[in-house]
Amino acid sequence: MATVTCLGAAQEVTGSCHLIEAPSIGKVLLDCGMHQGASAVKRLGKERFAFNPKSIDALVLSHAHLDHSGLIPKLVKEGFSGPIYCADATADLLKIMLFDSASIYLSDLERENRKRQRKGKPPLEPEYTEDDVRSALSLCITKDYLTPFTLSDEASCTFYDAGHILGSAIVEITLSDKGQTKTLVFTGDLGNQNTVLMNDPSFLNKADILLMEGTYGDRNHRPIEDTVQELRDILKETQERGGNIMIPAFAVGRTQEILFYLGQLHREGALQNWQVVLDSPMAIEVSKVYDRWFSSLDADDIDEAAPNARSIIQDFIPSLFLSVTTENSMAVNNIKKGAIIIAGSGMCTGGRIKHHFKSRIWNERNTIIFCGFQAKGTLGRLLVDGKKSVTIFNERFAVRAQIETLGGFSAHAGQSQLVEWVSHFSPVPKVVLVHGDAEALDTLSYVLWEDKKIGSIIPSLGQSIAF
Ligand SMILES: [Zn+2]
Repeated sequence: MATVTCLGAAQEVTGSCHLIEAPSIGKVLLDCGMHQGASAVKRLGKERFAFNPKSIDALVLSHAHLDHSGLIPKLVKEGFSGPIYCADATADLLKIMLFDSASIYLSDLERENRKRQRKGKPPLEPEYTEDDVRSALSLCITKDYLTPFTLSDEASCTFYDAGHILGSAIVEITLSDKGQTKTLVFTGDLGNQNTVLMNDPSFLNKADILLMEGTYGDRNHRPIEDTVQELRDILKETQERGGNIMIPAFAVGRTQEILFYLGQLHREGALQNWQVVLDSPMAIEVSKVYDRWFSSLDADDIDEAAPNARSIIQDFIPSLFLSVTTENSMAVNNIKKGAIIIAGSGMCTGGRIKHHFKSRIWNERNTIIFCGFQAKGTLGRLLVDGKKSVTIFNERFAVRAQIETLGGFSAHAGQSQLVEWVSHFSPVPKVVLVHGDAEALDTLSYVLWEDKKIGSIIPSLGQSIAF
């Protein structure tokens, strides 16, 4: 019998991790993601594997986002030594993501241990180190889309373009079980067809069991034209107030998309009085990876909006300022008005955006634009939920800046896109909804049944499902 056990992203949007077990495949892990929210030290201190990492035969990674990949170094430290299969571009991005995440974690740990020392407590041992990141990266085996590869004598795997971020894959695993062939499809994160730069998600049509994400299972995204118009309006209003704009953005995907749309506004002449600052060494590195894989991005979108562009960094906004050093970043504070600051982290749990908030969140002339999902428990979520004061670096700040949310920029499929995507399967597989808050998954499950008569399961954490 084959089973899949949901060990993360069960009725939540982070910590993606699922374990497939069958005699023909052994134990194969799909993703090994970290939870978001709280400090890295607290978060990692709580992460425990529900299995022995030494017993895992292989890891199949859907894409490089940390909520799908962040615990890989810990997995390696605790004894995993099998192959990590991922798309080529994912391996490039993973290197940046894991080293960045390790550096944030290890400096948080150092600070925590200094505090503990002052209290006479023993130091905390690191959950993993940069050596574990290096070991993890050496285990990566890259695979092209649409090219089946072997997992075992009786099991194979194929990646399809998920259209979510560069290198993102829908994973199809075929294995034999008591003489029968069984197919499991895992969407990873499924892209939004209206997203620029990324290709549309591939459609698949055969599976015995489908693990499908439902981040936006309870809503559709606003049309992208409306979102771009909102962005134009926000720029105009903020300019009239003599303010600045802060955009917390994920380094991977969202930043490049924002640069695309700001590039569009630049060509319209709407950026004349603005200085766009990309204040994130990581997002700059990631954008370089996107540039390296530029030919695999959606050429139609790019030709339409930025003909002849060959680079996101150089060709979308000619005056884009790349802020690499801490001095560069601090100098941004001196800009009185007219700065559009794009900085991480996307949910404001760390990174330079918190420093910009400290300088500007209390001033009503400024605007903060959220354009990505904000998980429960994050600073970003508190702001989106309308909190009037927040704590940043142990200091209380009044939230006087305008808070705006632009939903159309999502890199995830909206409800109707999810329903349409799953309806391509024939016959209907066993549908398992993961990677969404409970309310979003409940709504998606209801709509799937009402509109398409497709039944679905919403597993709880640790639940095993046979297929
Ligand atoms: Zn993702």
